[in-house]
Amino acid sequence: MHMIANWKMNMTRGEIASYLDVLSGDDRWQAWKERGIRLFIAPPYPYLDFLGSQIRSRNLPFGVLAQNMCAFEKGAYTGEVSGAMLRDLGVEGVLLGHSERRQYFGETDAAVAEKTTRALSMGLMPVVCFGETWEEREAGRCTEVWNRQIEPVRERIVKARGEGTGTPVNWAYEPVWAIGTGRTAVLENIREVSSHLRKNFGDEVASGLLYGGSVNDESVSGLWEKGTVHGFLVGTAFLEPKCVLRVFDRLFGCP
Ligand code: PEP
Repeated sequence: MHMIANWKMNMTRGEIASYLDVLSGDDRWQAWKERGIRLFIAPPYPYLDFLGSQIRSRNLPFGVLAQNMCAFEKGAYTGEVSGAMLRDLGVEGVLLGHSERRQYFGETDAAVAEKTTRALSMGLMPVVCFGETWEEREAGRCTEVWNRQIEPVRERIVKARGEGTGTPVNWAYEPVWAIGTGRTAVLENIREVSSHLRKNFGDEVASGLLYGGSVNDESVSGLWEKGTVHGFLVGTAFLEPKCVLRVFDRLFGCP
């Protein structure tokens, strides 16, 4: 299970230290990690290094993810951050194709595919986000949208697998209408996505399925099903460390 906190454009150094202080108050993290349950935190770029060192100094078994990366290897790409730089900072993976990047920064399906190729070649675990808008759902276009977003990425993964890459890929189903809105999907929606992935893209894709969209400590238990949901991507609720603890407690309880 991969539980991912997407901090988006939030947090400062002082807030990061306090956040980790609260999480350090629970002594079950190592036992959860041994059960394959792991917390990953995706901070803004400037805090990747600081967050990593704060995690290490508290002996917490958390992973650090980036919220984006550049598809190019290196060079004259002002304002961009490469996969090699992320690796150099000890980052383990990267969110790709988040709907906010698609919506506000014009990220295309082709760009997400390029970035996935680069991430895999760098040994960074891609967390590829996909999901429909409310209008697309209302128009009965969900599967068409999922396929359009997944297919080019999947092709790159198949090619990378052929070249020997074993890096796992997570697929975060994040319906746009549920992100930051307080409106969540229901388990039935996620089951529908899971069986679509299994049928059209195979077991490897289906077994990397995460859900994201207004998940919190109240909703999480009803959205989880063993064998269907392999983790959660959480924005707003995981800005509050006590909520992270409540979610872990509800889902995983005593080690
Ligand atoms: C997200 O940013 O990926 C997300 C799911 O946000 P929220 O939990 O706030 O809906």
